[in-house]
Amino acid sequence: FAPWENPEEKPLIEFRNVTKRFGSFTAIDDLSLDIYAREFFALLGPSGCGKTTMMRMLAGFENATEGQILLSGQNIGPIPPNRRAVNMMFQSYALFPHLSVWENIAFGLKRESKDKEAISARVEEMLRLTRLTKFAKRKPHQISGGQRQRVALARSLAKAPKLLLLDEPLGALDRKLREETQFELMDIQEKTGTTFVIVTHDQEEAMTVASRVAVMDEGKLIQVATPDVIYEAPNSVYVADFIGDVNLIEGRGTTEGERIRLDWAEGQPPIWATPRGPVDTDRALTFAIRPEKVSIAKDKPEDRRNLLEGEVIDIAYLGNISTYHVKIAGGQIIKAQTANTRRLANRDITWEDRVWLSFTETSGVLLEH
Ligand code: ATP
Repeated sequence: FAPWENPEEKPLIEFRNVTKRFGSFTAIDDLSLDIYAREFFALLGPSGCGKTTMMRMLAGFENATEGQILLSGQNIGPIPPNRRAVNMMFQSYALFPHLSVWENIAFGLKRESKDKEAISARVEEMLRLTRLTKFAKRKPHQISGGQRQRVALARSLAKAPKLLLLDEPLGALDRKLREETQFELMDIQEKTGTTFVIVTHDQEEAMTVASRVAVMDEGKLIQVATPDVIYEAPNSVYVADFIGDVNLIEGRGTTEGERIRLDWAEGQPPIWATPRGPVDTDRALTFAIRPEKVSIAKDKPEDRRNLLEGEVIDIAYLGNISTYHVKIAGGQIIKAQTANTRRLANRDITWEDRVWLSFTETSGVLLEH
């Protein structure tokens, strides 16, 4: 059982019908959400959707206008930020430039305790955890960006918070370092057992690190699920489009036994789909299919129900994969992606070629509007 599937498990954090207004503007709109201990939970959504406001309410910098936020079953509304078992790591890291790495990590501990030995032991432990022992005496300007990021992490974890909030923690790092650091973050999260809630603009980052992802829009949760469910079974056009690359084909559906027949363009054969659950065919439907689920070939494949003919108008070669943009009759562009394993399977396909796109009945999802 994952904790969120276990009815016995109590959530660490509960948002209960939380609304946050700034004047007449509603930033968070009657939102309910449970996050469990030891989760690495990601908040994802476009700028202004309310991610930071959620974090600030957890940290205690803002209070909910309506509803309650509970931590371990206790309403944290009246508890000031410094009395909550919550810490927040900012994108800027906010390290003290005149203090050494060691002193930066010890800072919060010294304010709480006079026990020098205990503080020292805890700092050493944090240095080991973040592989910074060698750099303990250096000042922040004498270490790399990635190391500074780890100091900030060590400092935020030193007081063993139940919950660590990470606001774009890797935003300042270049791509390669960022990817390495994602795995390090996951490792540290697992070793300490602390619950992490991360805000990121980078959907790949959210998908990599998170146990579950919440996709938000205008102060509401649109879908909360594991990364694979978010990607493979988005619950809306919004989520399908926000995460990764997707082809969206709009049309009218008719139920024919187990299948749905989608009529979507004059002169084009219908698309056949076998949905995972019941679909309401009285409304406009969108068939969403990832480019890697669409096959491309020069010769017309035999025995395929979903076949589209078109012309290659663009090819993006990305090393491990290639993406083909194919314009089909009616003008819609469908993307097909192939993995460039061993041999370039579609090496012979080039610009302006007539090609056949095909996909199975279960490779996409039907989404209602
Ligand atoms: P970004 O990714 O750009 O940081 P976000 O999803 O974190 O965006 P928030 O910072 O939570 O968004 O802001 C949500 C909405 O609330 C925005 O429209 C913002 O303008 C508004 N907002 C946030 N703080 C205040 C405030 N103190 N006063 C008025 N409006 C605010």
